[in-house]
Amino acid sequence: MGTIFLKGARLASGRKCDIRIEGDRIVAVADSLPAPGADARIIDCRNYYAIPGLYNMHTHAAMTLVRGVGKGETLHTWLQEIWDIESHLDEEAIYWGTKLAALEMIKCGVTCFADMYWMIPSAMKAVDEMGLRASLSYVLLDGGDREKARKQREECEEVAAQASLWPEKVQFSLGIHADYTVCDENMEWASDFAFRRNLKVQAHLSETEKEMRDTIAKYGFSPVAHFDRYGLVNSNFIAAHGLWLSDTDIETLGSRGATVVHNINSNLMLSSGYKFKYKELRDAGANVCVGTDGTASSDNLDVRESMKTMLLLQWAWRRDPKALPLEELLQAATLNGARALGFDSGRIEEGALADIALIDVRRPAFVPDFNFLSNYVLAADSSCVDTLICGGEILMENRRVKGEEEILDMAEKNARRLMKQARG
Ligand SMILES: [Zn+2]
Repeated sequence: MGTIFLKGARLASGRKCDIRIEGDRIVAVADSLPAPGADARIIDCRNYYAIPGLYNMHTHAAMTLVRGVGKGETLHTWLQEIWDIESHLDEEAIYWGTKLAALEMIKCGVTCFADMYWMIPSAMKAVDEMGLRASLSYVLLDGGDREKARKQREECEEVAAQASLWPEKVQFSLGIHADYTVCDENMEWASDFAFRRNLKVQAHLSETEKEMRDTIAKYGFSPVAHFDRYGLVNSNFIAAHGLWLSDTDIETLGSRGATVVHNINSNLMLSSGYKFKYKELRDAGANVCVGTDGTASSDNLDVRESMKTMLLLQWAWRRDPKALPLEELLQAATLNGARALGFDSGRIEEGALADIALIDVRRPAFVPDFNFLSNYVLAADSSCVDTLICGGEILMENRRVKGEEEILDMAEKNARRLMKQARG
């Protein structure tokens, strides 16, 4: 990492400027900056727009290995096939599955993701080697089994202790799979554990109508109220989905400054619903972000594609193209993610971490250049991302990522191995 000089890039606002990066941060953004020293890396940006790297705020990265499994089957058969394969997951599979996910996200302009999956030390190794930023959560999921719940608490403590040695770009967080899969004892423990360590807490929340109804039937209140009872709904709380929310739930999430991640492509595929209450959540003060969910249900990790679906559906079901402005959509997919995880990134400004995607606009989808953001979200596909910089490190240039051939081969090999084991 040294100096990177982005010469003559345009920002999403249309402003043309030079951007100077030193180490992991943006140190200057101006209409014209003095030429850097001979050792600087200069990138001629006359054909590029520079946008902040995207944040994929909810996924299960190594599920890339079950992509396409059970498609066209009923929900039950589909889930069973995936569980059969997942029961054979090991560290090697997690490592290559996470590498494949990282490679795919890099190609789509994603510089950071929030993950809920297994064996996170192996995922951490993969993320670190790929150079991405991430928040990896240790996921609590006991299904009411007290012995399993106890073991998970112990293991979580162990991983948390190791995480103090993790690289700066990778954050340890706590995952609570959902209110209906984690016992009361572990909810209580999770609240205390996260509070003492000031951890971000990732959870699935109010994803389906059934979940909402079942929780109300069991406890007498909603999933949001259930989490809130344990003091978990606060600015560290990152709730995936939030499709089935009452006005009171929205008020609770908003007043506590919680994050709600919309995963529209997964919600559509699983028929969970599509009427995400973007405006109400935003107006109540919630921090709305964008996610893809895992590739079993999305089926890719392309945040730009999620942005497009989110935009179209908000405009459609509200019957109002002002229901979600393009600028707010970009902010939801960048700055809001950074805020949720506490990374000083998601914006192209002096002092911020240098997480930047360079978008190649010498292609049909960007001509004419009347409205860059509209072209980027609605007309283009993610192959327009030419170069990706994360923390001052160039992870992709001319769409080439170091080691990509090996990642494709090893991920394919591991996915086939798991499938063979699952089928006995
Ligand atoms: Zn999920």
